Amino acid sequence: MTQPARGRGRRPQTVLEVLRTERLGPHLVRVVAGGPGFASFQNNAFTDRYVKLLFADPAAGLEPPYDLEALRRDRPEALPRPRTYTVRWVDEAAQQLAIDFVLHGDDGLAGPWADRARPGDRLVLSGPGGAYAPDPTADWHLLVGDLAALPAIAAALEALPADAVGHAVVQVESPSDVVDLARPDGLEVTWVHGVDEEALVEAVRALPWRGGDVQAFVHGERGAVKLLRRHLTDERGIDRGRLSISAYWARGRVEDQFQAEKREPVGRI
Ligand SMILES: Cc1cc2nc3c(=O)[nH]c(=O)nc-3n(C[C@H](O)[C@H](O)[C@H](O)COP(=O)(O)OP(=O)(O)OC[C@H]3O[C@@H](n4cnc5c(N)ncnc54)[C@H](O)[C@@H]3O)c2cc1C
Repeated sequence: MTQPARGRGRRPQTVLEVLRTERLGPHLVRVVAGGPGFASFQNNAFTDRYVKLLFADPAAGLEPPYDLEALRRDRPEALPRPRTYTVRWVDEAAQQLAIDFVLHGDDGLAGPWADRARPGDRLVLSGPGGAYAPDPTADWHLLVGDLAALPAIAAALEALPADAVGHAVVQVESPSDVVDLARPDGLEVTWVHGVDEEALVEAVRALPWRGGDVQAFVHGERGAVKLLRRHLTDERGIDRGRLSISAYWARGRVEDQFQAEKREPVGRI
């Protein structure tokens, strides 16, 4: 597995260009990017591999790769703003990668950018990081999340061995958000509609709980993830070492604030 090179606190940046976009549903758009800059992208083997996208204000007149240290020192108001996204797939041969963006309205940077993205637009990123990949030795697998976590869940389902068993529970706003998921026959998918966090927890609570060693991947909106953690650790007694769990976003918070709150009680999972 290759890891991105790091040097003196500077994360290398990869500068890509948008090649095409694909609408996957009313609230999801795939952006496929590549170009000469792809050569510096150092892939890893995590199915939840994620990157920090850097969004600069066009009015600041910056050219990527951005010298973040100099900007922090000399022009802090012009610092590009980071947004965290899963890399849905990487095609090394074609020198391309894809990111699936939730379209959540006009608020924000990344969602609206993806909605308007056109071939030739620039995409600047650092990373990838990552922490989870399905363990083929687990007795069964549990994957739970919302549309923001769907790219990571879909990548994990594709990476599972053909004889893997378990459950995925995915919450989407409406039935038209449901997408086809390639997966082993023994992996059942339950779709939960609406935005009620309790409904997602109820769907997980209603699953037939299998015995043995479960490996779980649980990510999504902060409120729902907190409830799910309580259920899985306190009620199901899941082994914490087998549980990948974190919030991907928080309702009513821009990512900068959401990330800052991870250091406060409200943001802790
Ligand atoms: C490791 C990791 C991987 C992630 N992978 C993905 C991914 O592959 N695809 C993806 O779409 N997101 C992913 N996210 C979530 C994404 O980083 C956040 O949704 C981020 O806030 C989006 O930035 P924005 O500029 O669009 O909106 P912001 O400027 O951050 O927020 C503006 C407003 O939109 C709301 N908002 C933000 N995201 C959502 C949402 N998903 N649904 C409804 N309202 C929302 C906020 O609460 C806020 O009120 C991931 C997060 C993490 C930590």
